[in-house]
Amino acid sequence: MPLLTPGLNAKRDNSGMHRTRNPVQAVHTPLSWDNRFHQLGAHFHTPLAPQPLPAPYWVGHCSQVADLLGLEASWLTSADWLQALSGNLPIHGTQPLASVYSGHQFGQWAGQLGDGRAILLGETNGLEVQLKGSGLTPYSRRGDGRAVLRSSIREFLCSEAMHALGIPTTRALCVIGSDQPVRRETMETAAVVTRVAPSFIRFGHFEHFAACGQIDALRTLADYVIDRYYPACRETAQFNGNAYAALLQEVTARTAVMVAHWQAVGFCHGVMNTDNMSILGLTLDYGPFAFLDAYHPGHICNHTDHAGRYAFDAQPEIAHWNLYALAQALLPLIEHETLALQALNTFKPLFAQAYQRLMCAKLGLHDDGPADPGALIDNLLVLLARDRVDYTIFWRRLSDARLQDRYEPVRDLFIDRLAWDAWLLRYQELLAIDVKGLEADLMLKINPKFVLRNYLCEEAIEAAQHKDFSAVQRLLQVVTHPFDDHPDAQAMAGFPPDWASRIEISCSS
Ligand code: AMP
Ligand code: MG
Repeated sequence: MPLLTPGLNAKRDNSGMHRTRNPVQAVHTPLSWDNRFHQLGAHFHTPLAPQPLPAPYWVGHCSQVADLLGLEASWLTSADWLQALSGNLPIHGTQPLASVYSGHQFGQWAGQLGDGRAILLGETNGLEVQLKGSGLTPYSRRGDGRAVLRSSIREFLCSEAMHALGIPTTRALCVIGSDQPVRRETMETAAVVTRVAPSFIRFGHFEHFAACGQIDALRTLADYVIDRYYPACRETAQFNGNAYAALLQEVTARTAVMVAHWQAVGFCHGVMNTDNMSILGLTLDYGPFAFLDAYHPGHICNHTDHAGRYAFDAQPEIAHWNLYALAQALLPLIEHETLALQALNTFKPLFAQAYQRLMCAKLGLHDDGPADPGALIDNLLVLLARDRVDYTIFWRRLSDARLQDRYEPVRDLFIDRLAWDAWLLRYQELLAIDVKGLEADLMLKINPKFVLRNYLCEEAIEAAQHKDFSAVQRLLQVVTHPFDDHPDAQAMAGFPPDWASRIEISCSS
């Protein structure tokens, strides 16, 4: 596939794509805006305003993210802000743009991609603010530039649920809907999510400039990322003082920790293409994701992933593969293959260490205590998989059981009860020798009572499609306080209904 430059694309006359407005109409926000990504220059993006979304309405808000931006509550629901975030009014001080990137999709080089339906508005309080579903850009390829209400609600809720679980992620400020029809497998309606992150730069941004042979731009991008987000890479004596190898090492470390969190909590991303991998190690681009219901290590949450490339238990290996793609892209800067390999080789031990630490915390054990919990964890996962035990309910019941010293409700989850009894015996032996072990009540702050199960999302989406947005806000409230009891939301902590296993989520969003 020929690689197009942003400049070439920008000249193409795609309808509605050269959107300029009278600056007098701009919304003046109380925020002060920077546009540092914009200032990187024309190699990196096409300046472009979002495409207006007709007759927009609010669907959901997250006040925590508004606080992060320094936005007062009154602003969050104001008419001007609604018009601004739906692309109907420009925001004073922003220089909106769509960025160019490339990437590997399902293991194949996909060539140029880019923000096909996202617009970066600018940066405020050190956080970039991006609209997703905001219309055509030069990188839309055959897409319509839009996102549907269903997938926008999923991204909004999951970003915030993940953050509340302590998992590195991009955040979401709000969802805005419109009755504008959008064609997917069926006719749906359009929506825009406002996302927030220190940076939306992906592995694919680096792959783009390496593939185009634009080594100066590659260096500019790497220097920008190092100076802004990884300044310690300039000072390290490791890697013979090679800051680009140090960058690869830091991204490797953050990615390992992110994926360890996914595996420990039972999160399946579904589309780990290199263009969906954040250079900051944040969970990015929520599509056909799922939290496991029954524990099934080979679970494939993406209906279109026939080969299971992105199955739950493949995620650590895929993350490592993606880091190789990043390393390949950085090689013209790192120059020495051995340094790149040295950084990449840290992935497996860092992942194993982070995973063991998280799993020990879930068990209420100290991870460098006198007992080796590795076999205990492995054996437990075998039992959970064999009996298809609900992953979240297991951990929460184990936490309660430990607190009350009554393990019957956990035993009830298993078919092979003798195997469970044997495991419990060993667990209790380890608890007994783990003097520094976590207090039992801490387990309730580590093992969530509520995760954003797909069926819960579906129920909130269906209500929203009928213009009842209260279920979205209610679910947000529960999943953003996942360790609390929520006595009025007991049903959300129970087993999923039978129809949950028949939900099919694809990449189409
Ligand atoms: P995703 O699978 O959502 O990570 O998207 C892969 C690529 O396709 C990215 O470059 C997206 O910007 C682009 N894309 C996805 N959906 C659309 C759409 N509806 N319109 C235009 N571009 C899209
Ligand atoms: Mg993507």
